[in-house]
Amino acid sequence: MERSRDDAPTEDTTGSGPTPAPPTPSATLGTGAAVPKGNGRLATVSGRSSVGGKGPLRTYRVQLEGGIGEDGPAFAAAVQRTLTDPHSWGSRLSFQRVDSGWAAFTVVLASPTLAEQLCKPLEIDYRLSCFSGGKSVVNDARWRGSAPSYGSDLASYRLYVVNHEVGHALGHDHQQCGGPGQLAPVMMQQTKGIGACRPNPWPFPPR
Ligand SMILES: [Zn+2]
Repeated sequence: MERSRDDAPTEDTTGSGPTPAPPTPSATLGTGAAVPKGNGRLATVSGRSSVGGKGPLRTYRVQLEGGIGEDGPAFAAAVQRTLTDPHSWGSRLSFQRVDSGWAAFTVVLASPTLAEQLCKPLEIDYRLSCFSGGKSVVNDARWRGSAPSYGSDLASYRLYVVNHEVGHALGHDHQQCGGPGQLAPVMMQQTKGIGACRPNPWPFPPR
């Protein structure tokens, strides 16, 4: 039985998000609204990355659904960059993306429709991400659309969703906000809302 249903939907109408940051320019990562449905097939990003981070090696695969207008190598590079950041899991583990052989987990970028299928029996209502069946499934609707707790700071939300869903792959369970004004733990369901915490995309945030 997979744990970690992610981020039950909650509307946040308080407007108490972080200060909006300027959009990160990107020619290759998807912008605008996600298409509801791609071709339903996952393709593995070919090649392997260099080893990054510090500690025991974890290999992983990156797969994207076709027909969703996302660039595989660009997404894969964003995942590796995120995981090997000194504030990410890469401060305790090494990561390498591979395209063949054994992999500890797979990071998937999928349309809402395919994400819904991949996350079953977890119920994501077409708009959440999850970890299920060894796959950290990033819903393209979130990858492009952020979440209320991050507002327009899409770059930070993307860091969060990768760190959170891979965190499940590494065996981490959900955590709660530690108290008013504190940074939200990365394993808090920040898509759902962060309560009195402040948004934080990192497992080991800068102090
Ligand atoms: Zn989760």
